[in-house]
Amino acid sequence: MTQTIETDVVVIGGGIAGLWLFRTLNTLGYRSVLLEQDSLGGGQTIKSQGIVHGGTKYTLTGQLTNAAQAIAAMPDRWRNALAGEGVGGGGVADPDLRSARILSEHHYLWSPGDIGSRMTSFFASKALRGRVETLTKENLPAIFKHEGFRGKVYQLNEIVLDIATVTRALVQGLEDKTVKVDWREQGNAQLKTDSQGNIEAIELSNDRGQKVQLKAKRFVLSAGEGTEALLNTWGVNDPKMQVRPLHMVMVRHHHPEPVYAHCLGTTPLPRITVTSHPDADGKWVWYLGGGIAEDGVKQSADELIATAKKEMKALLPWVNLDQAEWATLRVNRAEPKQSRLLRPDAAFCQPVANGIVTWPTKLALAPNLADEVVRLLQEDNIRPVTDKTVSMPAGFSQPEICPNFWQGCFDEKETS
Ligand code: FAD
Repeated sequence: MTQTIETDVVVIGGGIAGLWLFRTLNTLGYRSVLLEQDSLGGGQTIKSQGIVHGGTKYTLTGQLTNAAQAIAAMPDRWRNALAGEGVGGGGVADPDLRSARILSEHHYLWSPGDIGSRMTSFFASKALRGRVETLTKENLPAIFKHEGFRGKVYQLNEIVLDIATVTRALVQGLEDKTVKVDWREQGNAQLKTDSQGNIEAIELSNDRGQKVQLKAKRFVLSAGEGTEALLNTWGVNDPKMQVRPLHMVMVRHHHPEPVYAHCLGTTPLPRITVTSHPDADGKWVWYLGGGIAEDGVKQSADELIATAKKEMKALLPWVNLDQAEWATLRVNRAEPKQSRLLRPDAAFCQPVANGIVTWPTKLALAPNLADEVVRLLQEDNIRPVTDKTVSMPAGFSQPEICPNFWQGCFDEKETS
């Protein structure tokens, strides 16, 4: 016999977008179930650099003006959530992220050598006032306090987070409302549509022969790169997805100081963006993105590692990486297909029949995405039914939380 479970919202995909939303819906009293096909946070989310951008990077490219963009509000929004005092759209409590780990209170911009002079006037300009602070020698992060360092460092109001701990904090206490799904032919999940183009239900089964039909007032697609396949199964052509590939570099070593900084180059895209992540043995893994990862898409792992070694030697010559281990990671950023109407600074949420298709476009914008979904629910008069709860029957497996992936990465040179 098939059991029917009535919910308000089924969230499909447990990356940062789905998880922040799922937590918010639960706080508001919406009956919600989260479906994940792999591990929670295991997509782009764990592979991100964990920087809560406030948009400064985009001012370099001229994509943003100083008007009040959604992204500019994100660093404070996250800081409040990390202090357990977060308030989201409509006065709703944001997730309590006190158990999550902050890797760095600030991200920095650093201009090596002579680029500094040109950039100084830019950073002093109106567009960046209030977002950027020039640091004196005494206030430099430890990595730049070296006599060999030439250049300037600017401090941004952007924190860097240990993403696995954020994932854990978001799902804590809600595990019984999550289900691991497998959409393949012999898998446990099937998406059923009706003749009006709505998602009628999601049918789940398990190896004990139990069957559940999940019904929802809204189905939210927050499956990152997996959203394209879901849209195809559902038969929806608009919106469309695009991916932009990156080839990231990881270097694990004994140097004691972390780096959290965009290194400015001659183009508006940072030449290199470095974040630092502790591995299980207490060593730092420096994670290199930005321009090097965009250009690196065309390179093999060996070629890219050779480029990265040269870059690090040129930019931080006092750091000895001779004994370091190197590896690369290929990963795609999944986003809505760009149109001129798209604002680069806000999350994307498009209603489609009884669904909402979402991409946050930035990890930092997950709170903005949740606000927008809740606004769309309220606009359609979908209100929480606070005297009812939902939970999955026992016998349906729950997805695990993705741990940091550094450990396994250095066994093979290139991972994806
Ligand atoms: P994902 O994290 O990819 O999550 C989607 C989830 O859905 C996954 O868990 C996946 O397994 C699941 N899924 C897929 N298909 C299905 C299905 N059919 N059914 C059920 N589940 C499914 N942004 C920042 O703000 N700061 C940064 O520092 C930053 N650095 C980045 C660095 C890199 C290398 C990359 C690639 C991106 C970076 N970003 C950053 C962007 C940011 O990581 C993404 O915008 C964000 O993580 C996307 O979250 P998401 O939840 O939409 O997708």
